[in-house]
Amino acid sequence: MVATQADGPNPVAAPFFRYQAQRLYVEDVSLQSIAESYGTPVYVYSKASLAHAWQRYQDAMQSHNVMVCYGMKANSNLAVLQLFAQWGSGFDIVSGGELQRALQAGADARKIIFSGVGKQAWEIEAALKAGIKCFNVESIPELEFINAVAQKMALQAPISLRINPDVDAQTHPYISTGLKGNKFGIAMDQALAAYEQAQRLEHLQIIGVDCHIGSQITEIAPYLDALAHLIELVQQLRARGIALQHLDLGGGLGIRYRDEQAPAPKALADQVFAKLQAADLGHLQVVFEPGRSLVGNAGVLLTQVLFLKHTADGNFAIVDAAMNDLLRPTLYQAYHGILPVTQSTATARPYDVVGPVCESGDWFAKKRPLALQDHDLLAIESCGAYGFVMSSQYNSRPRPPEVLVDGAHCHLIRRRETLEDICAAEQGLNV
Ligand SMILES: *Cc1c(COP(=O)(O)O)cnc(C)c1O
Repeated sequence: MVATQADGPNPVAAPFFRYQAQRLYVEDVSLQSIAESYGTPVYVYSKASLAHAWQRYQDAMQSHNVMVCYGMKANSNLAVLQLFAQWGSGFDIVSGGELQRALQAGADARKIIFSGVGKQAWEIEAALKAGIKCFNVESIPELEFINAVAQKMALQAPISLRINPDVDAQTHPYISTGLKGNKFGIAMDQALAAYEQAQRLEHLQIIGVDCHIGSQITEIAPYLDALAHLIELVQQLRARGIALQHLDLGGGLGIRYRDEQAPAPKALADQVFAKLQAADLGHLQVVFEPGRSLVGNAGVLLTQVLFLKHTADGNFAIVDAAMNDLLRPTLYQAYHGILPVTQSTATARPYDVVGPVCESGDWFAKKRPLALQDHDLLAIESCGAYGFVMSSQYNSRPRPPEVLVDGAHCHLIRRRETLEDICAAEQGLNV
């Protein structure tokens, strides 16, 4: 017999997602009732779980001079941003669209950091106008471009240089960003020259240094490797009369999808500040840009089994969610836990859980032991980060709604798209 997977929800997500009398609840609301009210597929987030993840960063902020800028590309729903803004978070943005969303959600512009390798003039102008904390600059041409835009506006742009420290974050190659061979940041051996160039440009104000080495990192060591490089650079800069206010170590802390154990933010901050103090740099503010670790385990994608298909080669559960709704398994072969919304004592069989899209890559789990019947509801775990935000209308499928649970209350924070929404921006030919 195959072991059942029903050993319960991801222990990190409990107690926000838990079984009560064989039924799966998000806080005080059963997922069954959410499916009845909103249909499936639907993204469901727990507010208490978001608050818990934020609290873990607050623990780091209470003992050190740490600023947290939520890496909002992980989940940029306005209601989620509103919560983080209310809790005092800053935001790490990567586009003019994200700036707009953050401001609309009530973000304090002085806590916004603008990252990304390809910022356009309108985006830089909007960020300068809003008065953001800092641009993370990724190349010398970009330095010159930001200087030119700031000059036109008769302003000074606060900047930090994103350094590529050439360290291996030991994560999936698509989400590893701190190695020499990729497009991000300025190489260590060009960093001094880049800072000197920035100093010559009159409409730039140098305030920091940063790096972001990758995502789903489950060890502190890669951060300390990157930090050692940045410390060396900060000391060289200081010797040349360039003093910095902050050191930004980016985002990237991992979460538990299966059995990973990621360090707590405070443990990371403790070790970072120990190194800074040893280098006589304890006065620097440290910035973190966490995305996944603030939202990832706070959400599930709720879906319903359409058909069970048993073939000579295996068992398929065809569900009503697909790769257009949740891309991570297709894109990264990512593992997501799958929980039955109603626990069953029937014998489990190994299922491939797949969507209806015409691609073999459209799957959520392979050979997963589950006891299933037609129309069963399933909760795909750890979908709070890089879930809805990566969704599309591929196959002309309307995107699912998002629901935020707060205790016994449900808030619809994005409605389900309609068939009209799918064609809304298109224009037929007049022939
Ligand atoms: C994506 C990204 C983040 C957030 O990364 P997580 O792995 O979700 O924590 C932070 N900073 C930058 C520059 C990013 O591109």
